[in-house]
Amino acid sequence: MSALRPDSLPGWSLETLHPDYAQALKIDELLYDSETEHQRIRVFTNATFGRVMTLDGVVQVTERDNFIYHEMLTHVPILAHGDVRRVLIIGGGDGGMAREVLRHRRIEQVVMVEIDAGVIDFSRRYLPMISDGAFDDPRLEVVIADGAEFIRTTAGDFDVIIVDSTDPIGPGEVLFTESFYGHAARALSERGVLVTQNGVPFLQGDELTGTMRAFRALFSDWTCYLATVPSYAGGPMAFGWGTNGNARAVPPAELRRRFEASGIEPLYYTPEVHAAAFVLPGYVARLIPGAGDD
Ligand code: SAM
Repeated sequence: MSALRPDSLPGWSLETLHPDYAQALKIDELLYDSETEHQRIRVFTNATFGRVMTLDGVVQVTERDNFIYHEMLTHVPILAHGDVRRVLIIGGGDGGMAREVLRHRRIEQVVMVEIDAGVIDFSRRYLPMISDGAFDDPRLEVVIADGAEFIRTTAGDFDVIIVDSTDPIGPGEVLFTESFYGHAARALSERGVLVTQNGVPFLQGDELTGTMRAFRALFSDWTCYLATVPSYAGGPMAFGWGTNGNARAVPPAELRRRFEASGIEPLYYTPEVHAAAFVLPGYVARLIPGAGDD
């Protein structure tokens, strides 16, 4: 007899992203809990992770471990590309992705397309340490819109596009479609790089396979890279990577030179971690259709 999954645990935030696997974070103090037209937003404090935001019950960002996710989705494509001037962030309402992108002084413009103004508003108020002033940077342009709509009509020419969305449920679902990826590929500059939040392959392997199948049709270089984010339960998280340029071939010495010239001081990213992140264990490599065939 299958035990019924509890849909709540008094005093805890119970994440029910998966049908038969859940993580629970103790709520020391509930700071915010409200529905917007798109999703339910909660912010609470937890002794281990600090302030935590969930959207529709799924952990989105925590004060203590967000640096891993935000550093790996920004510094990897930016330093690999080597001359990024314009960046597009789809989602990213907590401001953490913009925070890390804006550390690169040669970047001239960051456009952030977020569907839910409520996420930005309360992130500025309850999670200011995540954006850390990014929303006040004159290089940042915030657009409140569905990323799938925006990408269809933008003139593009972005050197890096970062999909920092929720999981493919609710408003985030459209950001995992072939149509979205096709428009995103068109919106890239010639050597531009598209990177995506692609879930935890041990639990969400189908999502990664679907994204990689779409990338294989769009890009000459497609793969994923990994980093383990403690609050994204289930093992290493995959980041989709697609480009028609040669950013992944940058020699280690050149990557190290670019990193040192950037002046950034990350807590997780190093040029060596960057290179190693693309080395995939067998169970992840097998989720990527045709990788290594060509
Ligand atoms: N780090 C998180 C993760 O890996 O799941 C993502 C965090 S960020 C808060 C996710 C953002 O995506 C949210 O602010 C949400 O409102 C936004 N979002 C979801 N669907 C969207 C869409 N179709 N267009 C633009 N933003 C979207």
